[in-house]
Amino acid sequence: MDLYEYQGKELFKRFGIPVSDGRLATTPDEARAAAEELGGPVVVKAQVLTGGRGKAGGVKLADDPADAEQKAKDIIGLDIRGHVVEKLWIETASDIAKEYYLSVTFDRGAKKPLFMFTTQGGVEIEEVAEKNPDALMRLHIDPLEGFQPWVARALVYGAGVEDPSEQKQIVSIIEKLYKCFVECDAMLTEINPLIVTPDGEVKALDSKFTVDDSSLYRHPDIAEFRDTKAADPLEALAREKNVTYVKLDGSVGILGNGAGLSMSTVDVVVVAGGKPANFLDLGGGGDAEGVVNALEVIAADKQVRSILFNIFGGITRCDEVARGILEALQRMELNVPMVVRLDGTNADEGRQILLDAAPPNLYVEPTMLEAAKKAVELAA
Ligand code: GDP
Ligand code: MN
Repeated sequence: MDLYEYQGKELFKRFGIPVSDGRLATTPDEARAAAEELGGPVVVKAQVLTGGRGKAGGVKLADDPADAEQKAKDIIGLDIRGHVVEKLWIETASDIAKEYYLSVTFDRGAKKPLFMFTTQGGVEIEEVAEKNPDALMRLHIDPLEGFQPWVARALVYGAGVEDPSEQKQIVSIIEKLYKCFVECDAMLTEINPLIVTPDGEVKALDSKFTVDDSSLYRHPDIAEFRDTKAADPLEALAREKNVTYVKLDGSVGILGNGAGLSMSTVDVVVVAGGKPANFLDLGGGGDAEGVVNALEVIAADKQVRSILFNIFGGITRCDEVARGILEALQRMELNVPMVVRLDGTNADEGRQILLDAAPPNLYVEPTMLEAAKKAVELAA
């Protein structure tokens, strides 16, 4: 789950990482009021779940409340790479002397959290890694050993921070960020830029924060951050119905059992010349209830022109799935054609059940590729 900047900063604050005072606003009026409350110059910042807002015109300085209102008008409704701005974060403007970069991410390859720190902040970190790799300090934390103070010192000295007061503040921020990362079950926490003000104060001017979805059950406060409006409504429906659903951009809806099979089905649809609209993992739920839930989610996607139902029976028996499909079709109205491929346990029986019932708009194909071709043809 990706957090908005203001939510990430809220968590940073809880762990003692310095951030600027700010307010949330959804209208120009609220932006003006927020600027009045904060007093002095403010930054008006688009709250969208994508980076590079500055370059896209989504971060603007405002001298006074009237200016903040105007900047809010400019930014609300702005489309930043497909994300339309609805919320603004208004915060006290900072003077910037230096822009650094600090992050902790989960390095899956190494199976360890990875710290990255550089004094070349403010720009995309990939750019620093490419053009100036020596300036980027990287250090893993052994999760069993936990955080050791030398790590922070190695990062700070290694990156060439010379000012003792800066060193001290950054060492402390590094330790707090690690605690924040671990205790929030984060996958990524990034501060870019981590600024030094002309007075020598170090603080987080931005936040990028991703929390492991699987851990949300133990973070009800973070789960509450989830904004169902910004999230895809179908993904919300899928969550509600307890099915795994991934939205894609084409016209063939894909239903499989098991994540592996569902993803291979995506590939096969592409091989057959089609474009998947989404894919849904039925998991073990081949009963009517599971099939109805899955079909409801798929059918709610207006881009879906045909459905490819791909089942490999193991513990889930194909005859049971076939009965589930028939029962589902009686309970709901499906307006798009569906192609079914059954293989594995009791596949012959399952196919026979479907052929005997022969519901309209349902096609049974023997192989995955033929089924994909049929589904692509029907979606055209
Ligand atoms: P991003 O572009 O989405 O990464 O958004 P950021 O929050 O990082 O803001 C982009 C840039 O705006 C920063 O790198 C800063 O240069 C600038 N900026 C943000 N807040 C302030 C501020 O309080 N004062 C000043 N002077 N510049 C700011
Ligand atoms: Mn940034």
